[in-house]
Amino acid sequence: MIIKATAIPLAYYPYSSTSRIVHWLTRHHGKVSTLLKGALRPKSPFLGEYELFGTSELLYFAKRPHALHTAKECAMLHPRNTFRIDWRAMQAASYLSALFSQTTPDEAPHPGLFEFFEELLDLAEEYGRFPQFIHWAELRFCDYHGHAPNLGSCTQCNATGPLAFSATAGGVVCTPCSKKTKLPILACPPDVLAILRAWQKADHPQLAVKTAISAKQQFHLSVIEGAFMQHHFNLNPSHRDAIRSGMEGS
Ligand SMILES: [Zn+2]
Repeated sequence: MIIKATAIPLAYYPYSSTSRIVHWLTRHHGKVSTLLKGALRPKSPFLGEYELFGTSELLYFAKRPHALHTAKECAMLHPRNTFRIDWRAMQAASYLSALFSQTTPDEAPHPGLFEFFEELLDLAEEYGRFPQFIHWAELRFCDYHGHAPNLGSCTQCNATGPLAFSATAGGVVCTPCSKKTKLPILACPPDVLAILRAWQKADHPQLAVKTAISAKQQFHLSVIEGAFMQHHFNLNPSHRDAIRSGMEGS
C-alpha cells in the first residue's frame, strides 16, 4: 500500500554507503521509519526534499506494521531555514526532536501530537535561541501529556509553604511532608517556584524569554525539570544534559 504523509524527520541514520534510514513523525500515521534508497548519492531525487525540523510530503510503500517501510518520493513543504543559521535555535529544535522521538510509540496515529510538534518547532525558530525557551517548552510538553507538575500547594497536605520539589510526588511538597514520606526532594527556592508558576500558565514563550533569570535560577530550573522529565518520560538524561549544557554553557 502506498501512503502519502505529511512528515517531519526526527532522526536519520546511514543504512549503507548510499542509503539512509529516516525516522519521521507523520500527521496521520504516527512515528514511522523508512528506508531512503540511494539518498546519499549525489543525484538522489531525495536531496533537499527532507531535512531535520522541516515538514515534507512523503510517499512510501507500507509493508506490515512496524516494519521498515520504503520511501518512494519526498517533497519539501516547509524547511524552517532558521535552524541552518541560528545554532542555538537549532540546539533547541534538536532537543525537541529527541524528546518527541523518545516519547512517541511507533505507528500510533496522533494528529494532535504532530501539530504540537510543528507548533513548538515554529516557536523555536523565533524563540529557541533563548535558554528560557526550553524550560517553557518542557512545561508545555508535560501539560500536553497530562503530566503538568503541581506547583500550587503541597501535593500531600495542601500546605502553602515552605515548599520543595518532588518529581515522584508530581510537584511541590512541604518540609514536614517530605520528612514524613521520605520522598526524594529538590530545592525549589520561592523565586524559582514563582518563575515555574508563571511559565506554566503562559501559553506562549514570549513571557518566558522576557523573564531575566540568574545562573542560579537557571541551575534550579534545569535540575527540577530534568528530574521531572526523566521521571515521567523516562528520558535518557545524558542526551538531555548534552543538548542543554550546549545551550546554557555559553
Ligand atoms: Zn505537606
